Amino acid sequence: MATASGATDAHSIIALDAVVVGAGFGGMYAAYRLREMGLRFRGIEAGGDVGGVWYWNRYPGARCDLMCIDYSYSFSDEIQQEWVWPEQYAHQSDILAYANFVADKLDLRKDFDFETRVISASYDDARDLWVIKTNTGAIFEATYFILATGPLTVPKRPDYPGFEDFTGDIYSTARWPHEPVDFTGRKVGLIGTGSTGIQIVPVVAEQAGELVVFQRTPSFTLPMRNSAITPEFWDEVRRNYASIRESASLSPLGGIRAVSTRPFFSLPRAQRHSLMEDSWKQGGLAFLGTFGDLLRNEEANEEVAEFVRAKISEVVKDPDTAERLKPRGYPIFARRPCLDTGYYEAFNQPNVRLADCIDDPIECITPRGIKTQKTHYDLDAIILATGFDGLTGALMAFAVTGRDGRDLKDKWREGARSYLGIAMDGFPNLFMVCGPNGPSALANIITLNQQNVDWICSAITHMRDNGLTAMEPRPDAEEAWMDIVATLADKTLVSKANTWYVGANIQGKTKGLTMYTGGFANYRNSCADAQTNGYREFTFAPCKPDLKVG
Ligand SMILES: Cc1cc2nc3c(=O)[nH]c(=O)nc-3n(C[C@H](O)[C@H](O)[C@H](O)COP(=O)(O)OP(=O)(O)OC[C@H]3O[C@@H](n4cnc5c(N)ncnc54)[C@H](O)[C@@H]3O)c2cc1C
Repeated sequence: MATASGATDAHSIIALDAVVVGAGFGGMYAAYRLREMGLRFRGIEAGGDVGGVWYWNRYPGARCDLMCIDYSYSFSDEIQQEWVWPEQYAHQSDILAYANFVADKLDLRKDFDFETRVISASYDDARDLWVIKTNTGAIFEATYFILATGPLTVPKRPDYPGFEDFTGDIYSTARWPHEPVDFTGRKVGLIGTGSTGIQIVPVVAEQAGELVVFQRTPSFTLPMRNSAITPEFWDEVRRNYASIRESASLSPLGGIRAVSTRPFFSLPRAQRHSLMEDSWKQGGLAFLGTFGDLLRNEEANEEVAEFVRAKISEVVKDPDTAERLKPRGYPIFARRPCLDTGYYEAFNQPNVRLADCIDDPIECITPRGIKTQKTHYDLDAIILATGFDGLTGALMAFAVTGRDGRDLKDKWREGARSYLGIAMDGFPNLFMVCGPNGPSALANIITLNQQNVDWICSAITHMRDNGLTAMEPRPDAEEAWMDIVATLADKTLVSKANTWYVGANIQGKTKGLTMYTGGFANYRNSCADAQTNGYREFTFAPCKPDLKVG
């Protein structure tokens, strides 16, 4: 059991009702709910403390691209009344401070084993429980296995040869040191121009002697236009939190962003242009609240994309660099656009240059820097902002064996499959928080995490109230859900870009959109239906009399 320090003893078998993996916002909320339900459970977290991605991704400039009045817990009025966000779009350090504040307030740390990694989990059919092993030697036996392992957890390292020979420093944005890194005067190479690269460039550009940005695929980015939150605004939010949360839960994104149903071409050209100017000036995701069909109408999408490309030329002084920074060949908004503060402006600094890896691909890392086909760049440090094995990476990182010896890797060989992104045929009582085939990165993930955990807790309560020990979706229910996910995906432009949303950034990964694109509100309704219809899409195993839990 737990030792005096709170950590779990190695080499003992610990019998529990539930194990939760992950102490990000999903796992923290799961721990809170399970404790309130009176369940015996343990949380396992590979990191040293709570916070999940915000614990790991401490790179300079790391920031949320949703406004914090959306990107925060809504389950406790005490927490939302007490916590004060300093800016509209919170910095990583503020989000991590918030996670710590919540953990302190709810005394969550005592329920977690930190610096502990789950290395295998297998379902014991005879006893209807999960046997979960960790790298510390601990073995847990639990009825419910809740995976809050996060959609962006396993960093993707590029496979250029020579990293081990580099004599300078290598930093991964997803495993950033806890101490500040000083780049003053140093020659720095940054690989990757997704949202992380776009956030870090302007900050490192301020310090570095020289910054070379290695770009393969330019991303669409819009000005964030972040601002401090005034006490008056905050008082207003506090007074209206209940209605803010209500409208967030009914929205497509799970946030209070404006939504429009206005078709782009319903307006004359001049008016469309003036609205695009307004959206650009307003910043953030204002475009999506201005027109309703940008993710369905390719022509409309391209006109907005061209507007944004023209803006790049307005900012970036060197015409060749501006041209190379322009994303082409895939729709804007096919993934949530990056929001930046001074990204394009950074390319006007004399110490910043763009290395276009389409024209001149990286060949290898050398002891002194990066060698492309045509050039050698001498560097003191390399920053890898190269993304993640998204959605399924953490779930596939260890062996998960379900009923009748079913292997999760086999089940997902042709792409991730699940029912509602929460449960899977063949894997009884395994529940995913923010899993593939749910809305995931297309929604506000804190809102989604809360909704998923609430759904899972209701399902567990249902089983416990009805003498049932295990549940899993029927194969036809899973099939039907996957059909819905695929049909919706075909109707949007989201699946038309080679992004991590479709697994295109990982060599060998089956390509296909693994997210539900019908919007958070519709997704929430589907989950609610699955519950209120008496869980008829699930099969249940009755409690074995001698093994009754709890
Ligand atoms: C830089 C960055 C910016 C982001 N910005 C936004 C944003 O603006 N809006 C938004 O909605 N989302 C954003 N996200 C997505 C983010 O993943 C979610 O918002 C959210 O934080 C996910 O919470 P989570 O609890 O589901 O997962 P995480 O926060 O990823 O937590 C999962 C935890 O599980 C642990 N874990 C995984 N596998 C194991 C294992 N085998 N054993 C033990 N522990 C394990 C990990 O160490 C991790 O701490 C961003 C992500 C990144 C990386």
